[in-house]
Parts: sequence; structure tokens; C-alpha cells
Amino acid sequence: MEEKLSFEYAPAPESRALVTIKPKYGHFIGGKFVAGSKHFPTINPATEEVLSQISLAGKTDVDAAVKAARKAYTITWSKMSGKERGKYLFRIARIMQEHSREFAVLETLDNGKPIRESRDVDIPLAAAHFFYHAGWADKLEYAGLGTTPKAHGVAGQIIPWNFPLLMLAWKVAPALAAGNTVVLKPAETTSLTALLFAEVCQQAELPAGVVNIVTGDGSTGALIVNHPGIDKIAFTGSTEVGKIIARAVAPTNKSVTLELGGKAANIIFEDAAIDESIEGIVNGIFFNQGHVCCAGSRLILQESVAEEVIEKLKNRMAKIRVGDPMDKNTDLGAINSNDQLLKIRELSAAGDTEGAQRWSAPCELPGKGFWFAPTIFTGVTQAHRIAREEIFGPVLSVLTFRTPQEAIDKANNTPFGLSAGIWSEKGSKVLWASQQLRAGVIWTNTFNKFDPTSPFGGYKESGWGREGGRHGLSAYLKGVSHE
Ligand code: NDP
Repeated sequence: MEEKLSFEYAPAPESRALVTIKPKYGHFIGGKFVAGSKHFPTINPATEEVLSQISLAGKTDVDAAVKAARKAYTITWSKMSGKERGKYLFRIARIMQEHSREFAVLETLDNGKPIRESRDVDIPLAAAHFFYHAGWADKLEYAGLGTTPKAHGVAGQIIPWNFPLLMLAWKVAPALAAGNTVVLKPAETTSLTALLFAEVCQQAELPAGVVNIVTGDGSTGALIVNHPGIDKIAFTGSTEVGKIIARAVAPTNKSVTLELGGKAANIIFEDAAIDESIEGIVNGIFFNQGHVCCAGSRLILQESVAEEVIEKLKNRMAKIRVGDPMDKNTDLGAINSNDQLLKIRELSAAGDTEGAQRWSAPCELPGKGFWFAPTIFTGVTQAHRIAREEIFGPVLSVLTFRTPQEAIDKANNTPFGLSAGIWSEKGSKVLWASQQLRAGVIWTNTFNKFDPTSPFGGYKESGWGREGGRHGLSAYLKGVSHE
């Protein structure tokens, strides 16, 4: 009798014994943790367990944080040499590495992303941003950004929930390297790793007030944006809030960078290596549950290979392991919040209503927590909402094309312009396509690759300015623009 081979994985749970979560947190202002007055719960989205109570910063807290940042800028940080600032950044990077496992576990518990991703992507990249910018701190004069580069002063930084610690690193590392002090607000649902980072600042003996962290909701973010003591705003999040911020700072002298939404085209030409592109499609849309601004959420397939690609993609999607984010085998974790789950469901329902065909990978979703199976929609047209709006979840919209020019026209037919992917074995076609695409980041025969040395940012409604590399550094220096 023929025996059926089984490739079931035994559970491999990461231990949470390494992290100590306090029952309640305050804000980190002037180098110390200070108690907040109002609190709200932060939960584990995979289980709905309440992890801790987070403080909601109001006007007094934000005032205190801005005051501490100004004092630190005037008295200490702006007087310090770049070489000395760099030492602190190197120290922070090394301490983050030493605590990497603790950071990874905490991120996964608070965010719902698989431990494999927080351990192998988020935390190493966050440390890499501090290492990279530490190297710039004493070389600003040689960065091609003017002979006497000068910091803005106090930077207000507002970050989202999809890569909590990594987005903090993207913001704090260049700000400090360029000589600014900061007031940062993490997202409401994912404050814990930012608060652990505050402890790292204490361990690194960073001068008091150089980094201040206030937790809260959108109202706290608005208080930072509108505070007269802030010189520069850096925001990552939705295009909707980005527009509110742009309007708020327009009549002021504040400098601003905005990293907003995306609806990236991942284009597969008929001469692509199909099996490799399947991996690229999966990584493009299912990495981090699709909670990625540069996710390859529109698959643009050449008609001659469409059937083959879709069949292979479905086979591959059926093997995606969905479930406990703390299990080292898990590929797709929990949706970050109930609100986000509702948004994914709403847009997917619009896909059904508007006539696209839905297919979801057969998988068992846990009873508690927020979950959405990996899903593709075929038969999508450019007018469908699922082809135009950011779903920010594990949902892929598939469109097809016949000629290369049609692929480009479809790819560029979006209000966004953050990223794109091109799959082809032909170099000339890749170069031609990348010159036609209106996207800030273009990957060829790969997707979702990040590096601190590489500028990241978008066209159109995807935002203003760049983060990372020399271009990102320029956003934290006065009078330098590298759009
Ligand atoms: P938001 O843009 O609302 O949140 C991003 C950050 O801004 C959070 O820290 C948020 O605080 C804060 N914030 C909210 N309102 C204001 C305001 N008026 N002024 C200043 N700061 C504010 O994104 P959401 O988290 O609500 O997600 C909504 C949608 O945005 C998602 O479904 C997704 O489509 C998109 N998104 C895109 C991201 C990207 O990187 N492109 C990242 C995150 C979301 P709080 O968390 O407390 O609300």
C-alpha cells in the first residue's frame, strides 16, 4: 500500500518568559518615566489578551515633552560634536542588538506579526538604522548637503503600528545623527517596544530630553503636529491623516516629511522565472499580513502566463501557515486590530459586490483574535475599489495585460506611487519598465527588500520626502531638500 508522506510541522513556540510587561506605563520625558493621568489598554491581537495599560498624553504631557526636548537641544545636543553624538547612536544600536530577542517577543505580542519576521527583519533592521546613522553623525559636512549643515531643532515624530520599532528607528536615528532632539508618538495599538526603547536610551546614558516618548491616540499626534515648539514633523501613516498634517503645517515654518499609503503594482512579464516570481508575489503581499505601505497589492500579469501563475500561486498560498505569531513556523500572523480587520472585510466585500472573484487559502483560523486568510481576487478591473484603495491586509488584486505599455499604464493608474516590482529575465525590458513607472522604489526580480542606505519614499499621494540614505538624512537638516 502506498504511504502518504506528511509534512506537518510540530509547534515551535518562542518563550515569552524573556519579557516583563508592566501592568501600566507612563511617558518618557526628560530622561525619566513619568506617570500619565488617563490610560487605555493595549492588547495582543492574536488572543485579545490585555497586555498592559498605556497612558494617553494630553496637552500638559506634550508640552512637557517638547520643553524637555528644547532644553536638551539648546543645552546639550546642539553643542555636542558629531563624533560624540555618533558614540551614543552606536551605543543604542549595540544595546538594541543585545536585547533583540526581548524586542522581538514584545513586538510580536503587541503587534501580532510572526516571531520569525520580528526576529529576522524588524529588530535587525532597526539596529542597522542606528549603526548606519551613527556613521553619518561626524561626517555631515561631507554628505554633500552643504558645508555647514544645521539641525532643525526639535522634531515631532508620529509613527504607525505596522513596524513599530522599525519605524521608530527610521525616525529617531537620522534625527539624532543630524543633531535634532525628538518627541515621538507610537501608534495607539503598539506602544510597548517604543517604551522598551526608552529604557535602551537610559542604558545608553543618552542625555536627558534628547529622546522623549509620549503615548496616546490621534489627539496626541495632533497636539504634537500643532505645537509651536516643534520645528520639524515626520509622519508615517495613512494618506488621510497625512493630508490633515499637511494642512496644519502649511501656514507655519515647520518642515515636514510624510510617508503615506501605497497600492504597488507587481508586474510579471511572460519571460519571468515563474517559480521565483511566485515567491516574490507571496512575499510582496503576505509579508507582515499585508500591513505594508509598499506591499505588492496589485498583481499585474501578462495574459499569456496568467493561468499558470494563478494556479501555482494558489498552490503556494495553500501552504502558508496562518496562526500563532509566537510559533517559529508561522508565516502569517494576526491582523493588528479589530478596526483594521473590519476595513479589510469591508474592502473585500466591495470586491465581491463589484464582480471580482475571491479565492482564499483553505486554512483554519483561530477562534479568538483578529484573523484574515490569505486571499486573491481575480477578474479585477481598474475601476474596482480593491484596485484603487489601500486594503492594508493579506488581499491581492489581480489584473492582466497584453502589451508592456498596457502594463505600465495600469501600474501608473493610481493616486499612489510608493513602490513597484518588475519580474522579467530581460534586462532591457526591466530598465525600460523602471523608467516608465512612477514609483519611488522599484524592485526587480525581488520584492520588499529594505536597507538603511537606500532612500525610501513616494510620488503623488504616497508622500513627501525620503527616509533612509543620504536623502533621508537631508530631511533633518535645515534648508536642504532632496526630493
Ligand atoms: P493613521 O494614519 O491614523 O495613524 C498613523 C499615526 O498617526 C498613529 O500614531 C496615529 O495615532 C496618528 N494619528 C492619527 N490621527 C492623527 C492626527 N489627526 N494628527 C496626528 N497624528 C494622528 O493610520 P491608522 O493606524 O488609523 O490606519 C488607517 C489606515 O491607514 C490603514 O488601514 C492603512 O490603510 C493606512 N496606513 C498606512 C500606513 C503606511 O505606512 N502607509 C501605516 C498605517 C496605516 P493612533 O494610532 O493613536 O490612531
